[in-house]
Amino acid sequence: MPHAHVIDGKATAEKLRATIGEVVKRLKKDHSLIPGLAVVMVGEDSASRIYTRNKVKQTLAAGMHSIQRDFPADISQEELAKEICSLNKDHSIHGILVQLPLPQHINPNGILDLILPEKDVDGFHPVNVGRLGSGISSLVPCTPQGCLLLLKEVRSDLTGLHAVIVGRSNIVGKPLAQLLLAENCSITIVHSNTPEPHKLCLQADILISAAGRPEMIRKNWIKPGSIVIDVGINRITTNDGIKRIVGDVAFEDAAQVASAITPVPGGVGPMTIACLLRNCVKTACEQQGLSLPHDIA
Ligand code: NDP
Repeated sequence: MPHAHVIDGKATAEKLRATIGEVVKRLKKDHSLIPGLAVVMVGEDSASRIYTRNKVKQTLAAGMHSIQRDFPADISQEELAKEICSLNKDHSIHGILVQLPLPQHINPNGILDLILPEKDVDGFHPVNVGRLGSGISSLVPCTPQGCLLLLKEVRSDLTGLHAVIVGRSNIVGKPLAQLLLAENCSITIVHSNTPEPHKLCLQADILISAAGRPEMIRKNWIKPGSIVIDVGINRITTNDGIKRIVGDVAFEDAAQVASAITPVPGGVGPMTIACLLRNCVKTACEQQGLSLPHDIA
């Protein structure tokens, strides 16, 4: 059976983090600048806790400054808003990230919109969303940025390719469509109301899934020779009671027809945090009036 090239997100992310570490050393030495990230966590969601812990750990490992602000699940919208405003004023903090989801009683946009656009390392602020849509340099959401870097590992020029994106969320599908448009791809977006989504997926030169549906995409959805990027992270329990993490794509099945494919875990996931560090270095440089060092530009 043919087997696709497996795109190693872990190795690519490690390489990017190492380069960021070198850039951070130079910023410290030449400009006394230490990029600082604040991670805001509300409540006790166990998956979110693991994600935030990793983000802080990897930020520190890159030689950056990092703080985590933990708040109880019953914090009010007003109190949380006040905390964000205080981080906006903190000069040692160049990037602010609010871990999602927030508890039901909190309006997430009411919080995310308070983060200064220049400190918005997640790229979710309407100003950064608008800039990305207008093709102006901006802070780009980390997961789509990671997907693009992985695609570029396989093919440096994406011009003319047809990219089909499964999922239209504000954090993955929509910004990814903007990024790929800027790379001269033609874009189709599939969502839960799309009739016969497999027929559109079958036309893709690049198929990216961010639906959160375990192993929904099988080889009969995939055009032979296409590049498949799997953003999905789904926790499942197998028939024999084993807990596993799988993507949206049935990996072994899809690998028989795709030319290149990302695994889950070890694909897009590690790139997301590496791109977060990159965004934080970018915000720190911009706030100091420095251009982004060429090795991570
Ligand atoms: P959302 O739930 O916000 O969006 C899911 C999207 O998929 C929606 O647009 C939905 O359509 C669409 N969708 C759902 N089911 C189907 C279906 N059967 N056919 C076609 N489209 C479908 O999820 P996120 O964008 O936040 O995340 C998506 C996945 O990516 C999740 O598994 C998440 O864990 C993972 N993720 C991974 C990251 C990483 O670092 N690797 C980072 C972020 C997310 P509709 O709009 O119509 O409801």
